[in-house]
Amino acid sequence: MSSSFIIKNPLDNKTTQTMTSTVKYTTPAYRKLRGYAFDPSMSLQMETAEVNKIVYKVVWEPLETDNELGTSYPRGEYLEIIDYDPSTGVFYTPVDLNNQHTIMEEGLAPDINNPQFHQQMVYAVIMTTINNFEKALGRKIQWSDRSYQNEKGEFESEFVERLNVFPHAVRQANAFYHPDKKSLLFGYFEAFPASASLHMPGSTVFTCLSHDIIAHETTHAILDGLHRRYIEPSHPDTRAFHEAFADITALFQHFSFSEVLEHQIAKTKGNLESQNLLGQLAQEFGKAVGSYGSLRDAIGSYDKQSKKWVMHEGNPMDYQTNMEFHDRGAVLVSAIFSAFISAYKKRIHPILRIATGGTGVLPEGELHPDLVRELSAIAAKTAGHVLRICVRALDYCPPIDITFGDYLRAIITADKDMVSDDDMDYRIAFIEAFQKRGVFAKGLKNMSVESLCYKVHPETNAAEGIEKIFVDFLREFSQEIGYETDRGKIHDITRKFITGSKEFKMGIHQRINLKFIQGPGGKRFSEISGLLFPGNEKDCKDLGLIFSRSTGAKFQIGNLWLAVRATPEGKIVRHVVITLLQKRGVIASLDHDRFSVTGYFTPNTGEIPENGFIFRGGCTLIFDLDALRLRYAVKKDIDDIQRMEQQFRYSSDLRNAESAHSLYLDNEEMASLSGPFSFMHSLIHH
Ligand SMILES: [Zn+2]
Repeated sequence: MSSSFIIKNPLDNKTTQTMTSTVKYTTPAYRKLRGYAFDPSMSLQMETAEVNKIVYKVVWEPLETDNELGTSYPRGEYLEIIDYDPSTGVFYTPVDLNNQHTIMEEGLAPDINNPQFHQQMVYAVIMTTINNFEKALGRKIQWSDRSYQNEKGEFESEFVERLNVFPHAVRQANAFYHPDKKSLLFGYFEAFPASASLHMPGSTVFTCLSHDIIAHETTHAILDGLHRRYIEPSHPDTRAFHEAFADITALFQHFSFSEVLEHQIAKTKGNLESQNLLGQLAQEFGKAVGSYGSLRDAIGSYDKQSKKWVMHEGNPMDYQTNMEFHDRGAVLVSAIFSAFISAYKKRIHPILRIATGGTGVLPEGELHPDLVRELSAIAAKTAGHVLRICVRALDYCPPIDITFGDYLRAIITADKDMVSDDDMDYRIAFIEAFQKRGVFAKGLKNMSVESLCYKVHPETNAAEGIEKIFVDFLREFSQEIGYETDRGKIHDITRKFITGSKEFKMGIHQRINLKFIQGPGGKRFSEISGLLFPGNEKDCKDLGLIFSRSTGAKFQIGNLWLAVRATPEGKIVRHVVITLLQKRGVIASLDHDRFSVTGYFTPNTGEIPENGFIFRGGCTLIFDLDALRLRYAVKKDIDDIQRMEQQFRYSSDLRNAESAHSLYLDNEEMASLSGPFSFMHSLIHH
């Protein structure tokens, strides 16, 4: 800011002088906002009160907080907070995060009775979670498109700029991500604890004040934006994966709160396998709905009889026996957490040796503060690595039907692409933890790093080589999108490259079609992608595929992403990820428990024949932008009979379970909200 003005000399009050000044006010890097590290209940306990109040450093963004009527709810790049409570019909006064006093005070002080603080808390945690994903993915996150039917009855999709966040949406012990409404809905309720010593009976619990619940629901929304088909319960792992990932994010974010971390490291003397707050989720919620510890413990839980906390060892039957998706998800959370513990233990080992004169056995009493700081720094770093590895692996997952085994392969492959030398044995730690819980990768003879890692696609020089088709496209796409930071524009550019436009020659869809499927490479492309491309209407009909006059067998481009990441050695890795999807109508039967496919139907009429179901195939193609070649093709074949059987059996089990379950849902609102993305699976157990 530059200005000049006339001032009187205050000493003689006569001379007038011109003063000029040039001051540059830079945009701050962060907006600091106070909040709870866990939830309000931790502030009521002597031991945790001091560390529970933290300051969230939210990456700065201009926030709209006023409109022509005065103050409005905070509205930023990714979300808008709308504090309307339908059960009381009240709009709570918006918090003004741009108010100078609020800014100077690092936001409003944590207060359960102040709805404006509630709005601030959800904003801070959602933005922190988004930032963690973007750092790991190397690109901006997008919400899943809103799909609707146009006048012709065709499905179209539309960019969703902001998620709507309702801090007080329902009077219910639950919180939700609503994939159709593009909303996060937080409930509040009166506590009904198992014992009055755990939580005050009848006091109000707000899920919008729980870091873990907010991070969990935000992750559902982010994951839905990355892989929309993971909503579909085609495999018991798919929805469980959604739940697990949401918990993993919440858990590992605990390790970025340095005060909490040091406090817990001091308390456990660095042993993160013993009971501590970091490995537990939703403390207040758990106690308020009648259990002893937190709602979900990744590393251990309270034994009801002894009322003592015991560590989960991991059991080869875990994966086979837990079928409900929150329970099944817990198997994955526990595997990831245990991989983290192994990596952490390996890293602190030399420090402990130094600190103990070689014995590794810590003396009685408290740890030296320097040692606490050192161990905390290692824990934070390791947790950060593990979360980043987990998030990056999402780009290496198939677009449908994800299983835990697929995810392990994605983790190993993604990590190998980033870090060539695994001197800390992260990869071994992951493999061991999955194996211990009975999770294996389908079709592999062993669980070595080499086997689990997806094979790099062989380079071909043939004219029909997939690289040749994509070279120009990949170059142009990366040039156009590489420096774009506006999410709306990123969305438009991506759509243009997928579908093509009048001014823009050919989209990727058409390119694949013309140059590949209808050209000489058709058969090879089927092998690479696992999809089927018969050219004529009759064959399509016989196979249960949709036929289009212009393209032959229909397929869809799901995602198109550019991911730019720096390796620890400072190398820049640039990948373009493209996902392809195809659907097929399958009719099957179970005769004396023997599965057989009895026919196919065209899945575009909306009507599904008896014993028919929609079956999907898909693949994720990962291109290396610098070598300009296809690196991996991660696929789920559309011709996979085993997968058809698996889906057929699972969906009939699910239908039976759901019809039994629906008896307990007392009203329509609850039934519609208790969709795939609620925080709790059921209140009936409590
Ligand atoms: Zn959930």
